Amino acid sequence: VNDTKTALVTGANKGIGFAIAQGLGTLGFTVAVGARDDARRKDAVERLRAAGTDAFGVALDVTSDDSVAAAAARMEKEAGRLDVLVNNAGISGRLENGAQNPTTLDLDVLRTVLETNVFGVVRVTNAMLPLLSRAAAPRIVNMSSNMGSLTLQTGPVMAAYSPSKSMLNSVTAQYARQFADTDIIVNVACPGYVATDFTGFAGERTPAQGAAIALHLATLPDDGPRGGFFDDEGAVTW
Ligand code: NDP
Repeated sequence: VNDTKTALVTGANKGIGFAIAQGLGTLGFTVAVGARDDARRKDAVERLRAAGTDAFGVALDVTSDDSVAAAAARMEKEAGRLDVLVNNAGISGRLENGAQNPTTLDLDVLRTVLETNVFGVVRVTNAMLPLLSRAAAPRIVNMSSNMGSLTLQTGPVMAAYSPSKSMLNSVTAQYARQFADTDIIVNVACPGYVATDFTGFAGERTPAQGAAIALHLATLPDDGPRGGFFDDEGAVTW
């Protein structure tokens, strides 16, 4: 019997996802590094192993049915179950002059952003569900943003990215309702404004700071909150 818990992080090769992988490794998890690019994935696995984490790479493009199915098969072979799934992979979509104005929005940008930030999460979650169901205390964390909050409406006008995160919050609430009578706990996290490629390194928070709320939600006790939206300060209105 292998008592080590296994976690899969999507988009784990850099930024907040890599910091989440580092944090889970420090907590003693075996970490599956989900990443679509072979070289970047291998590099991340090597950096995690050098820091003492038991890590392995999983080829994973969240927009591809085939890639996600293959990733689930690989997780089955490597671990046989999944304790924690962090749906972190996300994109902003193309910006024009720093924004996505709805009046000039290229529908392909909207499609691509939804495909990654929303459909990708559903695709990965459903593919991993049989493995999650074998864990004693399965946790799912979806990385959202306060830009997805309908009440806060922070940041620039973002007609693709912001609605994608609103929808992710909404979809997560539906998962939580379906999982109400199960052991699976799912929540959404806001990392704050973090210095990564995503923000052109303009964010004032470090990836480790952005990862903290995800680590908290990934290790909730059995009576923890379900279907909520949280940052370091607590519940985020959305
Ligand atoms: P980065 O751009 O640094 O990293 C994004 C990660 O997602 C990369 O590993 C990227 O892989 C991966 N990714 C993108 N598309 C896919 C795909 N189709 N399949 C698999 N992986 C994919 O961003 P951050 O670390 O800053 O963001 C992580 C999450 O946090 C996102 O969901 C983002 O929306 C959210 N967030 C970030 C904030 C910030 O201030 N940075 C604020 C609020 C939310 P690759 O290297 O191959 O491109």
